[in-house]
Amino acid sequence: ADAFDEECDYLFKAVLIGDSGVGKSNLLSRFAKDEFRLDSKPTIGVEFAYRNIKVGDKLIKAQIWDTAGQERFRAITSSYYRGALGALLVYDITMKSSYENVSKWLLELREFGGEDMVVVLVGNKCDLDQSREVEKEEGKGFAETEGLCFMETSALKNVNVEQVFLQMITRIYDITN
Ligand code: GDP
Ligand code: MG
Repeated sequence: ADAFDEECDYLFKAVLIGDSGVGKSNLLSRFAKDEFRLDSKPTIGVEFAYRNIKVGDKLIKAQIWDTAGQERFRAITSSYYRGALGALLVYDITMKSSYENVSKWLLELREFGGEDMVVVLVGNKCDLDQSREVEKEEGKGFAETEGLCFMETSALKNVNVEQVFLQMITRIYDITN
């Protein structure tokens, strides 16, 4: 059945942001389709995926937007953020620079995103612990300071992927009710 045809109580838009190569597209394909790609597939135009989630007795349609490589040029437009109730701000635990750029992404989120947008800071690629450049405590501490949720994930090994999206979606639900 087409996702648009199904009855749902709420439609939530959420966005994925963070540096190029941190694993945003793989987190989304893991969550939406349970797929992982070893190569990075550059796409043209904005893409999004849907998944229906049951929270209590309500059916929520989560519409998750993924960038199409514009983040490489820091050229994400305000329309990408428009109407978004949540964001996963992703860095790569093996790439320090992607963590250092988190504060820039946060500024952009706060400029274009809604006032009480639910933001989860995500340290992806936690399967590569031997190449780790960002300690878990570092990410967690930063998230606490900024009032963000925090989780480390692996799109490759399917660690915490479901959890991170569900945490964001249930928090959005809690705030809007
Ligand atoms: P994006 O540019 O943020 O969308 O990143 P992609 O999803 O395209 O992933 C970039 C590269 O990192 C690809 O080669 C992926 O296979 C790889 N990758 C993504 N997530 C993980 C992960 O959790 N662990 C590992 N080891 N590699 C990952
Ligand atoms: Mg991508």
